Amino acid sequence: MTDRPTLVRRTPWPESASRPLGTPIQPSVVYASPDPDTLDAQYAGTVPGYTYAREGHPNASVLATKIDGLEGATDGLVLGSGMAAVTAVLLGLLQQGDHVLGGDQLYGRSLRLMREDLPRLGIATSVADPTDAAAFAAAIRPETRMILLEVVSNPTLRVADIEGIAALAKTRGILLAIDNTFTTPRGFQPFAAGADIVIHSVTKILAGHSDATLGYVAAVDAGLRKAIYDFAVTTGMTPSPFDCWLAERGLYSFDLRYDRAEENASKLADHLAGLPGVKRVLYPTRHDHPDHNRAKSLLGARGGHMVSFEIEGGRAAANRLTRAAPDIAFAPTLGDIGTTLSHPASSSHRGLSAEARAELGISEGFFRVSVGVEEIGLLCAEFEAAIATSQIEAAR
Ligand SMILES: *Cc1c(COP(=O)(O)O)cnc(C)c1O
Repeated sequence: MTDRPTLVRRTPWPESASRPLGTPIQPSVVYASPDPDTLDAQYAGTVPGYTYAREGHPNASVLATKIDGLEGATDGLVLGSGMAAVTAVLLGLLQQGDHVLGGDQLYGRSLRLMREDLPRLGIATSVADPTDAAAFAAAIRPETRMILLEVVSNPTLRVADIEGIAALAKTRGILLAIDNTFTTPRGFQPFAAGADIVIHSVTKILAGHSDATLGYVAAVDAGLRKAIYDFAVTTGMTPSPFDCWLAERGLYSFDLRYDRAEENASKLADHLAGLPGVKRVLYPTRHDHPDHNRAKSLLGARGGHMVSFEIEGGRAAANRLTRAAPDIAFAPTLGDIGTTLSHPASSSHRGLSAEARAELGISEGFFRVSVGVEEIGLLCAEFEAAIATSQIEAAR
């Protein structure tokens, strides 16, 4: 026996009359309660307090509260990824025999979940063109329980008829879930537009630095919230406290980053449209966008931070373009602080046949740009040089 204090017991946290300005990170998996009465009351929800991190932890709560504020939501839930959020909504709320109707250009993994996994579990799914409310009306079945939409589609930036589809969902008593990742709460407010449920991949521009993978979901109805929460906790969709801390830190500058990226995107779109070798540019607030009028009424001046464009010369020119722009990350994500470039035909849409891609307007020369907060002159110059290189060599 020694009289050295045991290493095993926790050393008390130092006292301080002052509080830290920064949010602490709390990685503890478990929380000690004073007695069974208190623990019982915590589980009953009559006394606040955490118990076990899978059920909830302070960094997730702080982050959820911040996104709640942006979306006008109550008691939103942060999950381990955007796909966890999509999955928790679909599997937490739907039952065998239900039908779910989705937009035909949803995020790739959301489409896969609808096409491959839900039918395996006895939940029927189908998709329709969300720019056409009549197509949605025609696709509704007696057992349709939910509609899943994105406001602006990836990567062709088509603008959904949210007004028409929300009215349809309301009269037919169908839940409307909106994945607001692309538009962000600064560009669009789904709850004000009639959504019952809002989903985010926080991984993208909300966190904004490509170093945290997280999702968020909120619902108007408390019963729906509880069903989603219980499913997510049971299936272990827990977010990492460190990722939540990073995302919260990122959110402090979200408004500034979004506004700058959007301003850049609008200017870059106009610049690209004037360059030789560029066949077309897609940006919702441009007059030549196929949904320009709807974009104007739904999004106002908020065209967002995503731009797509198509160059002449197919895959060979596409290869030359990315090689000629090594400082613009050719990386399949969006919402980073810096500009990233994606090529759907070789990544998100490689699983589709060439004909199916052609139908969506996604050729081998099609690129999607997630515009960052760089100085706009630099961005325009880099794209101009890279596109010129892609075309000069094509002509040889
Ligand atoms: C990225 C993304 C998702 C999935 O989010 P993860 O955090 O990557 O799981 C879902 N929906 C949209 C629109 C996305 O862009």
